[in-house]
Amino acid sequence: MTLKLYNTLTNQKEKFEPLEEGAIKIYSCGQTIYEDMHVGNAKTYSAWDILNRYLTWKGYDVFHVMNITDVGHLTDDADQGEDKVEKAAKEKRLEPRELVTEQVRKWYREMDELNMKRHNINPRATGHMIEMIEAVKDMIENGYAYEKNGSVYFDVKKFDKDHDYPKLGGRTIEDLETGAGGRVSEEELEEKRSPLDFALWIKADPNHIMKWPSPWSLGYPGWHLECSVMGVNYLGKEFDIHTGGVDHIFPHHPNERAQDMAMEDMSEEPVKFWLHSEHITVEGEKMSKSEGNFYTVSELLEEFDPEVIRTFFASIHYRSQSDFSFEALEEASKKLDRFYTTLRKIEESEGGDKTGLEEDIDWIEEDFRKAMDDDLNTPLAMSKLLEFSSRINKKLDSESSVLEKAKETLKELAGVLGLKLEEGEETLEGADEYIELLLEIRKTLREKEDYENADRIRDELRELGIEVEDSEEGSRWHIMD
Ligand code: AMP
Ligand code: ZN
Repeated sequence: MTLKLYNTLTNQKEKFEPLEEGAIKIYSCGQTIYEDMHVGNAKTYSAWDILNRYLTWKGYDVFHVMNITDVGHLTDDADQGEDKVEKAAKEKRLEPRELVTEQVRKWYREMDELNMKRHNINPRATGHMIEMIEAVKDMIENGYAYEKNGSVYFDVKKFDKDHDYPKLGGRTIEDLETGAGGRVSEEELEEKRSPLDFALWIKADPNHIMKWPSPWSLGYPGWHLECSVMGVNYLGKEFDIHTGGVDHIFPHHPNERAQDMAMEDMSEEPVKFWLHSEHITVEGEKMSKSEGNFYTVSELLEEFDPEVIRTFFASIHYRSQSDFSFEALEEASKKLDRFYTTLRKIEESEGGDKTGLEEDIDWIEEDFRKAMDDDLNTPLAMSKLLEFSSRINKKLDSESSVLEKAKETLKELAGVLGLKLEEGEETLEGADEYIELLLEIRKTLREKEDYENADRIRDELRELGIEVEDSEEGSRWHIMD
């Protein structure tokens, strides 16, 4: 069976074939690096990490670029408002690039902790000013962009005549026209030929900090331009997959597509598959930095194992909206415990001559592949892996070599979903003495009638997957199934 992916360009699941046999090029829109990464951002990156890992597992040579936006992303999509990085830097009394340096370091640390495979390149917008200026020149030369008062705009209607501007996202130019009028200021309307036009280069106000010389003005690039230029620069003018969140379906990605085609003066589709990840919500509302209703990854990492967070992400289909809650993380934690329990049981097993596990290994490999080939159905893949775990638990008296193979298969496939399943880290091997010690302390606390702390120990152990049972003879513990 071949891989099918949902392509936003055609609004349907399509058979995926790479442009070049055996090799796949992916561009993912990355973090606007003015604030800490929140759970929503991380869920989207996890989806693309799984995409990368799955394609690699299938034997492709994957080249993955994810940009870091360090300039030009304004607080309003319609070329208005402040630069997000500058605004945050001012609030923190930092030089914008000092803030960026700090945030990038933190971003890598957290991405590593979450076991996201490092991308081949993480280009930054500020490092590509020359290429961006050249691209704007090309678009002007090809007749798709115009200069006005030191800023340069993309001529959407001109482009639309030949290239169907809103094709990506399935809208019409009329829909957009009625929607766009209200969002553009008088000042901008004077400069733009149409309210649909968007800025490629923006003339900087005198008090703007990040600005560069260009043929048009001392200014800075538009956010949409950055991704186009970095994509073409590292992946070529045609490549396989472009990813982002659903908030990019309009206007970021149609603008990118338009720029790609305009700067290369091409009519072929520059990107073959556009993939979009749905949002994580909080009580039904999109989790976002601007709404202020977000949980940062660093906050969560203080309380939760990164692997629990990845289990939570993998349990959501990338195209499904999902509400974030601590209960959902608890659920994920239970799933993860089931995998570790199986690994520990395999470790403890002395083997036997039970048959059937070989067939289960063949079954999981096939079913896992089937689930993932169907537009990366990770929740189904996850539930199949949990079933595999249960099947192993029932066949622990299989031949040792088969048990070993089952263990490796479980680890390999869970690895595709971003889980480490590192033995020794989560398993309880060698931990017995510590548990006994904690139970001794708990006994003393109970004798002193300090039930609050005694219960805390019991609850914390339960979080780790250890159930404590009290009886007249004392307390006993066992690992939860
Ligand atoms: P930003 O830093 O806002 O540009 O977002 C970085 C990435 O996270 C983009 O791909 C966004 O589409 C994605 N993103 C932002 N908010 C959410 C959310 N609540 N759920 C899932 N993805 C999100
Ligand atoms: Zn982008």
